[in-house]
Amino acid sequence: MSTSHDTDVIVVGAGFAGLTAARELRRQGHRVLVLEARDRIGGRTWTDQRLGRDLEMGGTWVHWIQPHTWAELSRYGIGVTPSPTPVTGYWLSGGTLHSGTADDLLGLIDRGMTGSTEECLTHFPQPYRPLLAGDRLAEVDGLTIRQKLEELDLTPEEFDAVEGMWATNFSGRTEDGGYAQGLRWCALAGGSWQLMFEACATYKIVGGTRGLIEAIAADAGVEIRTGTRVASVTRDDGGAGVTLADGSTLTAAAVVVTLPLNVLDSVSFDPPLSEGKRRAAHQGQASQGVKVWARLRGEHEPFVALAPGSAPLTLCQVEHVADGETLVVAFGSVSERLDGTDPAAVQEALRTWLPDAEVLEVASHDWVADDLSGETWPMQRAGQLTGSLAELQRPEGRVFLAGSDYADGWAGFIDGAIESGMRAGREVHALLTAVEELPATGTSALVPS
Ligand SMILES: Cc1cc2nc3c(=O)[nH]c(=O)nc-3n(C[C@H](O)[C@H](O)[C@H](O)COP(=O)(O)OP(=O)(O)OC[C@H]3O[C@@H](n4cnc5c(N)ncnc54)[C@H](O)[C@@H]3O)c2cc1C
Repeated sequence: MSTSHDTDVIVVGAGFAGLTAARELRRQGHRVLVLEARDRIGGRTWTDQRLGRDLEMGGTWVHWIQPHTWAELSRYGIGVTPSPTPVTGYWLSGGTLHSGTADDLLGLIDRGMTGSTEECLTHFPQPYRPLLAGDRLAEVDGLTIRQKLEELDLTPEEFDAVEGMWATNFSGRTEDGGYAQGLRWCALAGGSWQLMFEACATYKIVGGTRGLIEAIAADAGVEIRTGTRVASVTRDDGGAGVTLADGSTLTAAAVVVTLPLNVLDSVSFDPPLSEGKRRAAHQGQASQGVKVWARLRGEHEPFVALAPGSAPLTLCQVEHVADGETLVVAFGSVSERLDGTDPAAVQEALRTWLPDAEVLEVASHDWVADDLSGETWPMQRAGQLTGSLAELQRPEGRVFLAGSDYADGWAGFIDGAIESGMRAGREVHALLTAVEELPATGTSALVPS
């Protein structure tokens, strides 16, 4: 590549998308520089020492039906380990606490889960081509998941349980989350909502997500500058570049930007991103939830607990039991409703299921308030899949978006981040190779705008 630039490719963000893209480009022989605003790599995955052990503050569970993640685990020889299987089930409905076995709870949500996912293979016959169904998909993409649930003629108890489950899955309000996004997840699980759940919250990475992201970073072998925030991205026919928060500039032949959709407009682009991308960024995607870890006094039998989306916490499950204590992980769909770092507030929320629960300590990170994420896991609003995905994926000249928010398949998961990093690596390589092969006169004809 031209040596007139500081590097061949600048990658903004050292999450799974950014580091995958960096590794792929380095393997093709390009010089790559990764710029990361945080003081660590991993982005929305973060294995941190909390409550006396390594805890995942963000992304956690993976599965072999997530092909990109699984390929990376295989590549680096990293295994998975299961979370405890719940025995007991608790659920809140109409303000009343119910309990039974975990299987009773699965039975309760069966009609609602089946009804809200049974059309998934019609609308997503090939889930890695999410727009393939065209007009048929557009017809349902305008529905929220809540509107779909309301069509299903569920009993109030069934509705509350299934609605709470979807609020958890969306990490957001069911009146925002797109029905099509639920169908998309289930299609990726071959049409089985049970397998979809297994993929969402059963198998953790041995050594944590940190082990996998560090393996990718080591393999990439590129410079990663942490604590380096990008303020703006520029491009013209001859190159691209970034201005850092300290005002310094760096140039490259191409820039890969991996910012989550909800903070995409925290960076300025010159020329501006397309109208469609700006509209999507302005609207933002639906996730706004909270993930909380809590140490409870006493050893509880593994349980799963569900509450409607209006509750501060919508799902809780046991992750570890030992030495007279139980470690639970819980999710709420609106972070503003619960300060996950306040033990008293978390205890009050947990007591709706476990009236005697005594919280000893809590740990949480507010990803929604975090100005480098602005969201938890990406979940589309009604209309966003057909309305903006293709446009968000379209490169603008020498600027490429990558990230789980812009994935074809498991958008919202680590898998989607890796998939989109692979795509960005492929597309940038094609651009740079085409530019290299051109005669010395102009390059703009090959550069998509
Ligand atoms: C609470 C929670 C639970 C989750 N659970 C799961 C799960 O169980 N399983 C699963 O597969 N997925 C899960 N996810 C989703 C998964 O973690 C994400 O989809 C994935 O990690 C996103 O990777 P990414 O590279 O696309 O984005 P990110 O990881 O967000 O990476 C973007 C990077 O860009 C950086 N950045 C932002 N702005 C700038 C700037 N101006 N300059 C420089 N750098 C910048 C950020 O700091 C960040 O490091 C969860 C996420 C959260 C938050």
